[in-house]
Amino acid sequence: MTPLDPPDRLLMGPGPSNPDPRVLAAMSKRLVGHLDPYFVHLMDETMSGLRAVYRTSNHHTLPISATGSAGLETIMMNLLEDGDRAVVAVIGYFGQRLAEMARRAGAEVEVVEVPQGEIVDPAEIDRALAKKKTKLLAFVHVETTTGACQPIEPMVAVARKHGALVAMDCVTSLGGIPIDIDALGVDAAGSCSQKCLGAPPGLGPITISPRAMAAVAARKAKPHTWYFDLGLLFQYWGENGAEKKRAFHHTAPISSIYGFHEALRVILEEGLEARWARHQSAHDMLVRGLDKLGISLFTPAANQCATINVLAIPSGVDDAKVRARMLERGVEMSGGLGQLAGKVWRVGIMGHNAQAERVDRFLGALGESLRS
Ligand code: PLP
Repeated sequence: MTPLDPPDRLLMGPGPSNPDPRVLAAMSKRLVGHLDPYFVHLMDETMSGLRAVYRTSNHHTLPISATGSAGLETIMMNLLEDGDRAVVAVIGYFGQRLAEMARRAGAEVEVVEVPQGEIVDPAEIDRALAKKKTKLLAFVHVETTTGACQPIEPMVAVARKHGALVAMDCVTSLGGIPIDIDALGVDAAGSCSQKCLGAPPGLGPITISPRAMAAVAARKAKPHTWYFDLGLLFQYWGENGAEKKRAFHHTAPISSIYGFHEALRVILEEGLEARWARHQSAHDMLVRGLDKLGISLFTPAANQCATINVLAIPSGVDDAKVRARMLERGVEMSGGLGQLAGKVWRVGIMGHNAQAERVDRFLGALGESLRS
């Protein structure tokens, strides 16, 4: 086996993004046991830091010990059960995955789907919800495959009208663009550690409202999952008002939690508004630079957002060759997924990378790669 020596990359794809160096340093701190009083204290601080980032008072806010998909699966498997109905707004690949999770949780699922780049009209959701009693409306806030951003308020309003809970995938938005869970009234949200929150992959930060937890408590049967059972997870992470004694559930990924705790500290020191503004100005700079290179965004202007930029590959340009040349220059960007493969590039402006100097380096490498 060779000694570990990963190349130095500027990670400007859809994630992972380069973590803040403070986060990587925190991850190499000495280990304590996962039931050590020091670690239990860190778990509490991590939950409260995550609440601040989600802008929520939801007690049930924690990083699931697995990637963003696992956090979303936790939400779907606990909020839905056999016989429930769910409506899922699909604006791309990640919406399809939410629909599949809902089916696997036992729900009857109605999908409201739009072409790539578009967002769902809440009037369509209204019609779907009006058909039959529905427990949950699920949607993706920012669809990483198309770059489209689905506005949150109208989705919540239409769900409330029909008495449905609302679950949101904010994997490509939390920490980068405005989200205020309590003000918006979202019942459950799931993100990831490796994009705008500025840590490596491995955790699925979620938050669940008291209303959604009441629905979990009223389930007819236990969830079809043991590892992601919210009831069991909070015996370990601590129920509201419960004493600090924790029941073993799994061995927490201690070093990942160290890193995530530090990432939350970095965010709260910077301030959420300042962080959102930094993402927006890095995105604006990217779009201006792309314009000079003759490249426009695939996503219709009204649906674009700062964190993920989906670029239309100019005609006659070889997708794979350009990305290979970028990598030779130490810069990663990604190709399209599914129907958009070969048609778009995906460029993330996320977390520590949402900085003028990094956008500049990206644009320089892209310009050279297109010319060479
Ligand atoms: N949802 C969206 C919108 C994503 O972009 C991703 C990953 O990029 C996921 C879910 C899955 O997250 P993870 O890869 O952390 O499991």
